[in-house]
Amino acid sequence: MGGRIIIIGGGVIGLSIAEHCLRRGLTPVVLDKGPFAREASWSGAGYLDLRGASGVGGAFFALCRKSYDLFPEWAARLKKESGVDPELLDSGSLDLAFTEEEETAVRRMEGNLKTFGLSGEWLAPSQASQKEPGLSPGIRSAFYLKETRQVRPPRLTRALLQVLQKGKAELGELEPVEDFLLKGRQVTGVRTSKGLREGDAVVVASGAWSALLAERLGLRLEAKPFRGQVVMYRAASGTLRHILFTGLQKAFTYLVPRVDGHIYVGSTLEDAGYEKVTTSEGMEKLKTGALKALPGLSRQLIEDTWAGLRPGSVDGWPYLGRVPGREGLFLATGHFTHGILLSAVTGLLMAQAALGERPALDLTPFALDRAPHPPAGL
Ligand SMILES: Cc1cc2nc3c(=O)[nH]c(=O)nc-3n(C[C@H](O)[C@H](O)[C@H](O)COP(=O)(O)OP(=O)(O)OC[C@H]3O[C@@H](n4cnc5c(N)ncnc54)[C@H](O)[C@@H]3O)c2cc1C
Repeated sequence: MGGRIIIIGGGVIGLSIAEHCLRRGLTPVVLDKGPFAREASWSGAGYLDLRGASGVGGAFFALCRKSYDLFPEWAARLKKESGVDPELLDSGSLDLAFTEEEETAVRRMEGNLKTFGLSGEWLAPSQASQKEPGLSPGIRSAFYLKETRQVRPPRLTRALLQVLQKGKAELGELEPVEDFLLKGRQVTGVRTSKGLREGDAVVVASGAWSALLAERLGLRLEAKPFRGQVVMYRAASGTLRHILFTGLQKAFTYLVPRVDGHIYVGSTLEDAGYEKVTTSEGMEKLKTGALKALPGLSRQLIEDTWAGLRPGSVDGWPYLGRVPGREGLFLATGHFTHGILLSAVTGLLMAQAALGERPALDLTPFALDRAPHPPAGL
């Protein structure tokens, strides 16, 4: 790949790739069919954890770990260069167990984490309440893990956009890509609603819509949207201090406290096509899970509710790297439930690919034509 890189999709993945390319002296051109970063990357909770990945292991865990480790320096750099604080916080998390069955599920996760050198601490209800005073008295136990972080996605993407604007990246909002420009097997650019855009390489980073674009090239991409619904409460700052996870086995719900007191409650995981709507069933499930963990929330204002579309893949692992049989075409999509976490490493790996450098991690396990891996989920 050479100097001018066309990136289709201005979510956290496309913007991170653009920022990493810009830093290395390439010229990124980011195009989005809508406003930048208003799809999954706006909807996401932004908790950055290794709990789920520890149950998958292998190259998936290595990818998540690398990205997790990149975040502090990346967030600090973006904050310095943009003046926007992405609010990266070492919040720590509590996995709440209300039943023996739930405790067993959390213990299984603890075992997975241990194999990667991560150890937490089991708390009795009274100890957990000391850490988190509003917690339900009905818990049986809680597992505290200090390594769970969070970032605030809308602030992360705002910081990225500021850096890109300052660096004179080309940014095209409300400019859907309709097709690819081809010279034989070489992809030489894209046709958009506004005309032709030529480049040395094209990266498909179009989230839940990536398969629709790949079809234009006759490529079959096993990728589809998975809806996630969200409830945002407004509470006084400090009402909740840690990220809470509940219902690991059946009614998975999590609560993420923001610096300004907002409490993000997510999320459903639904195969509902491109229907980006909330449902009463989804809202009920989230409110029930949230109040079970933090009963005082029942008196707090629900400020907003929304739904977003996670970009699914055949196995929940992203597709990263060159597309076989097409010169100049790259994929960075299918990040499913881990896209905010994986944004840092994806930007790095794709910029390295752009320059023909040896990637920091082997991309073979993330190839388009891989055999499906053990599934990665929540
Ligand atoms: C409710 C919810 C909670 C989540 N929580 C977390 C979390 O806590 N931690 C975590 O790591 N991940 C989380 N995720 C997952 C994460 O948000 C996604 O994996 C990530 O945002 C994907 O980023 P993206 O840039 O690939 O996709 P998107 O943000 O969807 O961006 C893709 C962009 O491509 C554009 N596009 C599509 N087609 C075209 C076209 N033809 N031309 C031009 N542009 C096009 C779209 O308009 C869009 O802006 C969550 C997701 C949801 C929905």
